[in-house]
Amino acid sequence: MAKKLLNYINGAWSESTATEYLDVLNPATGETLGQVPLSPIKDVDTAVQAASAAFNGWRRTPATTRIQYLFKLKTLMDERFEDFSRMIVQENGKTLGEARGEMRRAIENVETACGIPSLMQGYLNEDIARGIDEMMIRQPLGVVTIIAPFNFPGMIPFWFLPYAIATGNTVIIKPSERCPMTMQLVVEIMEELDLPKGVVNLVHGGAEAVNALLDHPTVKAISFVGSTPVALHVYSRGAANGKRVQAQGGAKNPLVIMPDADVEITTSIITDSVFGNAGQRCLAAANIITVGEAQNIFAPVLKEAALSRVVGYGLDENTQMGPVISPQSKTRIESLINKGMEEGAELVLDGRQATISGYEKGNFLNPTILSNVSPKGELAQTEIFGPVMSMMHAETLDDAIKIVNGGNYGNMACIFTNSGGAARRFRYEATAGNIGVNIGVAAPMAFFPFSGWKDSFFGTLHGQGHHAVEFYTQTKVVIERWLKEWSRQF
Ligand code: NAD
Repeated sequence: MAKKLLNYINGAWSESTATEYLDVLNPATGETLGQVPLSPIKDVDTAVQAASAAFNGWRRTPATTRIQYLFKLKTLMDERFEDFSRMIVQENGKTLGEARGEMRRAIENVETACGIPSLMQGYLNEDIARGIDEMMIRQPLGVVTIIAPFNFPGMIPFWFLPYAIATGNTVIIKPSERCPMTMQLVVEIMEELDLPKGVVNLVHGGAEAVNALLDHPTVKAISFVGSTPVALHVYSRGAANGKRVQAQGGAKNPLVIMPDADVEITTSIITDSVFGNAGQRCLAAANIITVGEAQNIFAPVLKEAALSRVVGYGLDENTQMGPVISPQSKTRIESLINKGMEEGAELVLDGRQATISGYEKGNFLNPTILSNVSPKGELAQTEIFGPVMSMMHAETLDDAIKIVNGGNYGNMACIFTNSGGAARRFRYEATAGNIGVNIGVAAPMAFFPFSGWKDSFFGTLHGQGHHAVEFYTQTKVVIERWLKEWSRQF
């Protein structure tokens, strides 16, 4: 029988009071990896109480002491790097190389948060009036929560977790119910840190658990990553309940190819961006816009590169693309491909009938390419979250930028060119928060914010780096005068 996942509350593993469990399935093999509870409000409340009780002691622990736990965590994560990576492959389906990349970024966030004693420093002015000083200090918020999506089960919680605890908050993590096993393993390993009870809690579940966190009066802040409709729901409901919210949403990333782009490197980078993680990346390129002569140059080579991609089980070392997360997701992607054709697009490469020998139960699609996609159509405007390249054409860079800026999302936009002027214009005018110049996946390093715009983000401060530090702290301004000293001087 598959292992029932437990919640981790107040420094101990406990069975959820859930009446409903979901199977966690390996998307390549169909094997059941575990059973995840859909924790009810009661479990969320128990976790919030534990986190709240831990807050007073944790915020008083000096930042220099708090980061010692993170240094140890980094070492443990390095030691267990392969275990985490293999777990990600099994529950998510991506390749081992992709899973390793994901864990590397998770660790980089721990490293960045080790700088908290400097990062959360305030500032002070003497003599704002005679003998009076004024200072700004940063204090933690209290109980904060992290709600994560399925596609980066190891990395995304780390855009938030290390900063949240380093700044003195206590945390409840709610992983995706589709990929909950990696965070379960992370928390199992975190037990070795001997953190004070209640500083880090893990509650499994779905919408009910999320809504309980959004409504709980003791929860002060919500960090969310997932699809746009849910991001908007989380942002609205959390804010209506007076909480600080950062909600990162979905994406539909455009990528412009100028005629002067380097053919070989550009082709390789673009196919990695579109088909990496089977397209289930919020920074996957989706709409490929060729400008002028680039259409004739790039259409054949992109097709050739897509055709040569090896699709299979992520644990097999030669696999270059794994399955999508679920049979439902596969059906949805196929219906969007059909929709694109109904809208007049031409199916250049059809990945719908994929069967991978030995993995007949997997949710596989092969790389798919559609050309002549209408920029205003449903295919171009909808997040597909699958290995589908939609090609469209513009006569000039200005026209291409119009297509880029016509989309509702603003997670990433990229340009491939050897012209500094074209790149500069694109960087300046594209309405997206993460820009790539000859880069296909413009994923900010841990010390930069993950800067989605438009429907890809609701809030002000993003995950990672300085933004995370600001998000998890509130500023306090103190103006002080010491009367004896003041009357002695004046
Ligand atoms: P999702 O929105 O289905 O789920 C995300 C989280 O929300 C999960 O923890 C889930 O339990 C919870 N949830 C789902 N439905 C809910 C509801 N009705 N009410 C309350 N909570 C609910 O997202 P997903 O399918 O797991 O992840 C893929 C999506 O995440 C894509 O849209 C992708 O673009 C996006 N994403 C965005 C970023 C970013 O940085 N902008 C990064 C990664 C993924």
